[in-house]
Amino acid sequence: QDDSAPRRIKALDPDVVNKIAAGEIIVAPVHALKELIENAVDAGSTSLEVLVKEGGLKLLQITDNGHGIDKEDLPILCERFTTSKLKKFEDLSSICTYGFRGEALASISHIAHLTVTTKTKHSSCAWRAHYDGGKLSPAKPGQSPDPKPTAGRNGTQISVEDLFYNVPTRRKAFRSASDEYNKIIDMVGRYAIHCNGVAFSCKKHGDSGTSIAVPSQAATIDRIRQIHGGGVANELIEFTTSDDRWGFKASGWATNANYHIKKTTLLLFINNRSVDSSNIKKAVEQTYSAFLPKNGHPFVYLSLEIDPQRVDVNVHPTKREVNFLNEDEIIQAVCQIIRDKLAAVDTSRTFMTQT
Ligand code: ADP
Ligand code: MG
Repeated sequence: QDDSAPRRIKALDPDVVNKIAAGEIIVAPVHALKELIENAVDAGSTSLEVLVKEGGLKLLQITDNGHGIDKEDLPILCERFTTSKLKKFEDLSSICTYGFRGEALASISHIAHLTVTTKTKHSSCAWRAHYDGGKLSPAKPGQSPDPKPTAGRNGTQISVEDLFYNVPTRRKAFRSASDEYNKIIDMVGRYAIHCNGVAFSCKKHGDSGTSIAVPSQAATIDRIRQIHGGGVANELIEFTTSDDRWGFKASGWATNANYHIKKTTLLLFINNRSVDSSNIKKAVEQTYSAFLPKNGHPFVYLSLEIDPQRVDVNVHPTKREVNFLNEDEIIQAVCQIIRDKLAAVDTSRTFMTQT
C-alpha cells in the first residue's frame, strides 16, 4: 500500500446515504414522534393518541382523525422529498404547516419498520401499507407490497416498530427505555398544551392508565394543569404582546413570584413548532432573577408567532433550531411584558397586605 497515493473517490450507495441522513434527523425515538405529531396536526386532526412500547424503541404508534392520505399517494408516501406542503423554494417563506421537506417518513422508513393505515372521508375503506427503505414492502416475505383494504376510521395511524433495528451502534446506545419514554411524555405534553382544540393522549403499552389525557375542548390553563399540576397552574399569569416593527406576536402563561422550581421549564413554540432557544431561556431567567429567590426558577409557556418571511426554518433538517430577524428586540419585548406583569402582581400583593 502506498499511503501517499490519492484515495479514489466513489459515490456512496443511495441506501447508505439515506441511512446516514435518517440517523441525523432521528437521533432518538422522541424525534420520530415529534415529526408524527406535527404531521397529524398538519392533517387537521382534533384527536391524537400515542402508544409507546419500550421507550418507543419497540413501538411508536400515533393515531389521528385528520384528513387521511389518498390511496394513490401511498406508493410515494415514504420516498425522500415527497410532500403535499411545499412546491417551490419561495414557498418556504410563507410556509404555515409544520412539515415541508418530505423527509420525515422517508427517514423513519430507512431505520424502522413502518406501517400506515389511513382512510380519507371519500374512501369506503381504510388502506394499510408497509414500508421499508422508502418503498412499499410486503407485510410478510412473498406477499405483494401493494396496500391492502381494511376496516378503519377516518384519519391515519402510523406505527413505527423496531426503531434503529439496522443501526446497531445507535440501538445499543439507549440505556434506559424509561428515559426515552420521559422524553416522549415531555414532547407530547408540550404539543398538548400548545394545540388548542386538539385532544391528546399518551399511553405506555401495558399500563392501565394514560400518562397524558387532555380533552379537545380544554383551555390552555387547564391543559397546563392536567400536565404540570395545580401547583403551577394556580400561580400563572397570562401575557400577550406584539410589535409590527419586528413582525411578531407573543402570548403565553408564566408563573408569578409565588412560585419557583430548581430548573426553568420553558415550553417554547415558534410558529407552532416546539423549539429550543438558549438565548430566550437565558433572558427569561435573567428577568425572573429580580423576583425569585436565588436558585429559584420559573415555568413559562411562550408561543411566538413571527412573520414567516422573517424566519429561516431551513437551518437544519431537524428544524429544532430557527433563526429569525430582530431576535434581540423580540426577546426584549417578551421579557418586558413578563416583567411588567410580575411587578403588577407584586405591587397588588404589597397593597393587599398594607390594607
Ligand atoms: P412533510 O411533512 O415534510 O410533507 P413527511 O415525510 O412528514 O413530510 O410526510 C409526507 C407527506 O405525507 C405529507 O406531506 C402529507 O401529505 C402526508 N402525511 C404524513 N402524515 C400524515 C397524516 N398523519 N395525515 C395525513 N397525511 C399525512
Ligand atoms: Mg412531516
